[in-house]
Amino acid sequence: MIPIKTAREIDMMRLAGRLAGQILDQIADFVRPGVTTGEVDQYAAQLFREAGCKSAFLGYKGFPGHICISVNEEIIHGIGGQRRVQYGDIVKLDVGIFREGWVGDNATTVAVGLVAPDVQRLLTATEDALYHAIPFAREGARLGDLCWEIENFARRHGYSVVREFVGHGVGRKLHEEPQVPNFGKRGSGPRLRAGMTLAIEPMVNMGGAGVQVLGDGWTAVTADRMPSAHFEHTVLVTRGEPEILTWRAKTPSKSLAKS
Ligand code: MG
Repeated sequence: MIPIKTAREIDMMRLAGRLAGQILDQIADFVRPGVTTGEVDQYAAQLFREAGCKSAFLGYKGFPGHICISVNEEIIHGIGGQRRVQYGDIVKLDVGIFREGWVGDNATTVAVGLVAPDVQRLLTATEDALYHAIPFAREGARLGDLCWEIENFARRHGYSVVREFVGHGVGRKLHEEPQVPNFGKRGSGPRLRAGMTLAIEPMVNMGGAGVQVLGDGWTAVTADRMPSAHFEHTVLVTRGEPEILTWRAKTPSKSLAKS
């Protein structure tokens, strides 16, 4: 069963989404050369406290961080620690919060200073893949169409998508039905209905699709250690244009409806 949110519940998710976006922007501004990922995580914890919200990740299946911080070849689920961010790195920040019982989940990839042109192209294409896919989150569309669009978009740019980790429904829980893979078959999967809320999150690798999980049991890295990028929004399916619930100041102007 894919939950359909009521108007009141959608209002709650708008507030949670907006806050998650605001905090993600603040953390992105905090990332700079010399900072450790542990310091970034502590800064996130401080922002959560100040805003009166809670991490949706801390303690989830035992995850030890407040947010996920993944550098360069790390794809997702990186844990803040001693790693020091360097000029030219790319840093993936995944921020999920509970605000009054509702989840806002979003992610971005920060370029630290000037990054190599091929890495910048990867970032741009991954973010574009997200904004390319969002318009498919409409009432009546098949979920497989949206998923297929992400993979096809990435492939057209010469990249591969991660298959082991997927987007998801989101609401009262961090992970609800359905799974939203970054690959799919057109015309397959459930039909989307207004009131569904989906975390759409392309994870795109510059090299091969292969993934390894490091010894900490969490950090997923590319098997070939080439860079990976990740962007995510929580999106409301509507009868018209989908609504980005985690819309934020840094969301590109080319994106769709603001919440
Ligand atoms: Mg997510």
